[in-house]
Amino acid sequence: MKAHDGMYIDGAWRPPAGRDTIEVVNPADEQVIGEVPAGTALDVDAAVTAARRALAGWAATPPAERAARLAALRDVLVARKDEIAATVTAELGSPLKFSEAVHAGAPIAVAGSYAELAGTYAFEEKVGNSVVYQEPIGVVGAITPWNYPLHQIVAKVAPALAAGCTLVLKPAEDTPLVAQLFAEAVDQAGVPAGVFNLVTGLGPVAGQALAEHEGVDMVSFTGSTAVGRRIGAAAGAAVKRVALELGGKSANVILPGADLAKAVNVGVANVMSNSGQTCSAWTRMLVHRDQYDEAVELAAAAAAKYGDRIGPVVNARQQQRVRGYIEQGVAEGARLVAGGPEAPRERGYYVSPTVFADVTPEMTVAQEEIFGPVLTVLRYEDEDDALRIANGTVYGLAGAVWAGREAEAVAFARRMETGQVDINGGRFNPLAPFGGYKQSGVGRELGAHGLTEYLQTKSLQF
Ligand code: NAD
Repeated sequence: MKAHDGMYIDGAWRPPAGRDTIEVVNPADEQVIGEVPAGTALDVDAAVTAARRALAGWAATPPAERAARLAALRDVLVARKDEIAATVTAELGSPLKFSEAVHAGAPIAVAGSYAELAGTYAFEEKVGNSVVYQEPIGVVGAITPWNYPLHQIVAKVAPALAAGCTLVLKPAEDTPLVAQLFAEAVDQAGVPAGVFNLVTGLGPVAGQALAEHEGVDMVSFTGSTAVGRRIGAAAGAAVKRVALELGGKSANVILPGADLAKAVNVGVANVMSNSGQTCSAWTRMLVHRDQYDEAVELAAAAAAKYGDRIGPVVNARQQQRVRGYIEQGVAEGARLVAGGPEAPRERGYYVSPTVFADVTPEMTVAQEEIFGPVLTVLRYEDEDDALRIANGTVYGLAGAVWAGREAEAVAFARRMETGQVDINGGRFNPLAPFGGYKQSGVGRELGAHGLTEYLQTKSLQF
């Protein structure tokens, strides 16, 4: 798609306040494929002003009409799904099939879920002699990353619109083109001017201006823990609501009775998908010592098959970072059984699918989020040991448990300090609340739980 040279503010593409631009690079071949304006605090201010002006009208719009706009938005996304997939492939580098199924498919499912929820959710209830109203929190500042660029946008914009909030979106600098496409889709869906606004720009400039703007009632952020911590601190100081979706280092726990080959193969696929750039990826595989060698062999063989099937990572900086972690793993004594730090191709920001064996829980590669196609395989002695290891990081976003009996897996999952657990390969559910325990974040996205994030209550007594 052709890039816009303006910001989508108050229902139209408007010239930016400054002249700086951001180049968009295809990470598969390092070619520049477009440029977008680098917004400043002035653009953010114009967008927040438009969102504030539109708030009263949108908040008062009946939920059924908000639902109709969301259904129209879903329909536009469906009609443009090939363009969405091609755009994400061009700016993120993911294989086209994956872009079609996930980068286009997931946002369509989520937009559809909120079209339905907006129409059916009980925005008012009777409690004793009170009526409790669920009212929109107000103007939302949404800041999103590049790894699932449209999904992460829709996971904020759709529930906020369903709730009656207005928004300003600052998308990631690596993937602004699909954000511009989304703004076109919102426009096509007939969402009134000012309800949704887009400002492209750099995090420390446009992102920070949005997070700190006093006209913003809530900041919803997805990205790194380092930036999330700062945004949370600023929101705390201003006493405004904040939702944070941050990093993860999720455990894939394979209990002795499980189907080992299936658990390992699905586990490797989970880590390699999207080139390992998934906050909920099961990057630590925990295997009983009696099955450890077999699991390592299976994992190495599975990773080797991914050789040419995964895309690059998003940019040169991420490639450097991931390769640095692989080198550190080797330096700390982990054993490489697949991949390694060498770049597998001359062009493009590729990293080899990598598997580390003999990883111990305190190693850097077992503690920090690498955000690349790197799996660590850890050995445990018994279930309590497995639980200690699984819970032994600052994160708690997702995880998996595999067991011979489902009840056994459920019992283990209930003891895990984490927001989501897939049991014996359970499927993604766009209605299930998604979010973190511990330093993986604050708040939940998706489904009804995701909608309540954008609501506040008012009680009238009779
Ligand atoms: P980041 O946190 O810097 O960027 C995420 C978003 O925040 C982007 O839109 C960015 O422009 C914005 N931002 C950056 N600095 C800001 C500031 N000071 N104020 C307001 N907004 C700001 O993440 P990154 O540098 O793109 O990636 C670094 C690491 O973060 C990754 O390697 C990975 O570990 C992690 N990450 C996690 C997720 C996730 O889904 N949890 C997503 C992306 C990255």
